[in-house]
Amino acid sequence: MSNPFDTALSTLRAASEVAGLEPNVVKFLSQPKRIFQFSIPLKLDNGDLEIFTAYRVHYNDALGQTKNGTRFVPDLDLDTVKALGFWMTIKHAVAGIPAGGGKGGIKVDPKKLSEGELERLTRAYIRKLPMKGAWVDIPGADIGTSAKTQAWMLDEYEEIMGFHSPAAINDKPAEVNGTVGSMEATGTGAFFVTMEAVKDLSIPKGSTVVFQGFGNVGRIAARLLYKEGYKVIAVSDINGGIVKLDGFNVNELESYVDKEGTVAGFPGSRPISNQELLELNCDILMPAAVQSVITEENANNIKAKLILECANGPITPNGEKILEDRGIKVVPDVVTNCGSAIVCSFERTQGLTDTYWDIETVNSKLKERIVKAYRETVETADLKKTSMRNAAWVNALTKLSNSMKARGWV
Ligand code: NAD
Repeated sequence: MSNPFDTALSTLRAASEVAGLEPNVVKFLSQPKRIFQFSIPLKLDNGDLEIFTAYRVHYNDALGQTKNGTRFVPDLDLDTVKALGFWMTIKHAVAGIPAGGGKGGIKVDPKKLSEGELERLTRAYIRKLPMKGAWVDIPGADIGTSAKTQAWMLDEYEEIMGFHSPAAINDKPAEVNGTVGSMEATGTGAFFVTMEAVKDLSIPKGSTVVFQGFGNVGRIAARLLYKEGYKVIAVSDINGGIVKLDGFNVNELESYVDKEGTVAGFPGSRPISNQELLELNCDILMPAAVQSVITEENANNIKAKLILECANGPITPNGEKILEDRGIKVVPDVVTNCGSAIVCSFERTQGLTDTYWDIETVNSKLKERIVKAYRETVETADLKKTSMRNAAWVNALTKLSNSMKARGWV
């Protein structure tokens, strides 16, 4: 199934059956509350005019104001934005965050723009966004956006409003009243979840870990697991993978990647393809790159005991059925990678109270919140005799359903 919104709806249908949701709740959740689509005309540096298509979806705001990512990619379409908004709604509910799910972006290749063009486009996006603000909808970063674009967005918003409002935009740098720890939040959160899962499965320190993807998320989680005494035996990026069966010194590997821009060629390692890497003999597998890498084609060859979905949707539904039959434990994306959603919520809280926390406070609150989400998921999975993915969705949908009923929406 290639349409991401169809995938989101099929997970909704499967989980609503397990949760025993009323048909009206499912009907309500099968479409976004609001969709904005608008054009942004931009005069390029060479004088040409280009018109860009922009989107923002408020999927569901029963639990609080909508918030999250803004994606600048050339192939953005409305169904992708709807699916991402839905997943954010679920992620916030799983993590116990008082927020709804929002997502948006512009169909653009930011690499083809000059810095000045990118700034003008980003500011125009905020000017033209019909509903925004700390109590309405808070755009954050996603693919193609960064702390820099978020600082421009905040500045533009504050210019429009005529007052400071640091809680109106997320993922901005600490220098403009952002939060510390936001860049590391997803990898750090994935590490906290891994520590709980290894306790449950009695996987001891010294066990082997494999990472697909060594970017923001994979790298931070690998660093923390290495520090904790786990043996990282293989890592990869878009250029391919490397393996070292007695384990990498992850600090040295990071310095190498900073210099070379890739893991390929790290001294003392053997090259391996991304496909082979997934099938390596290991205890823990962390897919932290892209979606749909474990499918019915390779699920039978996976040897890990535990898989933590650091990326969004790395396991297809058919692949997951096979893993489930083989007794391989999967911690789903909405639990494993909700660290950044949690810290974004902390960023808003800090902005609203104009009080800024240190990294120890951010990380200890992150740990408390994400471990609670993991524990609640395990409890529901045991109770309902279902997968962790269904359990996480059941918990989220139940919270959403209760709030929508109390509000009189269904
Ligand atoms: P990133 O761009 O920093 O790193 C991605 C890594 O994956 C890089 O090492 C890249 O070379 C590698 N990669 C890309 N395509 C690949 C391919 N086809 N095969 C193998 N490796 C490939 O991204 P990130 O922020 O680390 O995010 C990783 C994943 O986690 C993405 O799926 C993202 O959507 C998801 N995610 C990220 C966050 C976050 O806060 N960064 C939050 C939730 C989910």
